[in-house]
Amino acid sequence: MIVDCHTHVWKYPGHLSERFVKEIPRAKSGEVDINIKLKDHFAAMESVDKAIVFAFKSTALSVNVPNDYVAQYVQSHPGKLIGFASVDPNDSEAVEELERAVSDLKLKGLKLGPIYQNFHINDPKAQPIYEKAQKLGLPIVIHQGATFVTSAPLKYALPIQVEDVALKYPDLVMVIAHLGHPWEEDTIVLIRKQPNVYADISAIYYRPWRFYNDMVHCQEYGVTHKLLFGSDYPFTTPQESLTALYKVNQFVEGTNLPRVSDTTITGIIERDALEILNLSGSM
Ligand SMILES: [Zn+2]
Repeated sequence: MIVDCHTHVWKYPGHLSERFVKEIPRAKSGEVDINIKLKDHFAAMESVDKAIVFAFKSTALSVNVPNDYVAQYVQSHPGKLIGFASVDPNDSEAVEELERAVSDLKLKGLKLGPIYQNFHINDPKAQPIYEKAQKLGLPIVIHQGATFVTSAPLKYALPIQVEDVALKYPDLVMVIAHLGHPWEEDTIVLIRKQPNVYADISAIYYRPWRFYNDMVHCQEYGVTHKLLFGSDYPFTTPQESLTALYKVNQFVEGTNLPRVSDTTITGIIERDALEILNLSGSM
């Protein structure tokens, strides 16, 4: 079974601010079509068996992909899609909204992005959210890594900061998005020693040399079993991400460079992410 652990939907215009949209071309070279319809998302998920779909709320960036919007969409494809809620820790109602998203909207996890939501991961205001997520068994996908957005503070983006949360909430399952790019090495040493912290490999392949080196580093540190497949749709599709993963050894032919093994590649693609994220019972 192939699970895309990292996909976005939104309504544009509507959910994104113009400032955010204007900066999207910086995300990768080549066009990103942000004018996505839900049917486009669903069609792109044809190459995977299940897909996780994120809501996203950032007051600082005036971005709000509502929990209700994601819930309604995933409910129309219950065998295939799993919705993750988003709350902004700066909102005084964040914990109540998370509870509502789980009990009423049946969302199954949480997406956080300190760099987008303008908070330090260890800020006291975020603690009740981690506590609630741990109590409810909700996995958190956390965007700890770089971004294209000018006003989003990089100081909140370091993957190593996730360790404090992991130590305080040992049963909380967390996934660091994009392998914490460009701090992949920090992510690797973190997921090596924190049992419930994982990483997804979404959106790294745009820089193929970097992607290859990341995969080799993961092998050398023995953490490939902590890697989950993801695309970051609509920035790319699961099919393009799968193709890139199969092509990861393109630099190796005719050299003595180490190979990313077939076991690593198929392991990432076929890993039972639902089991890891406590979602097996929810489908
Ligand atoms: Zn993303």
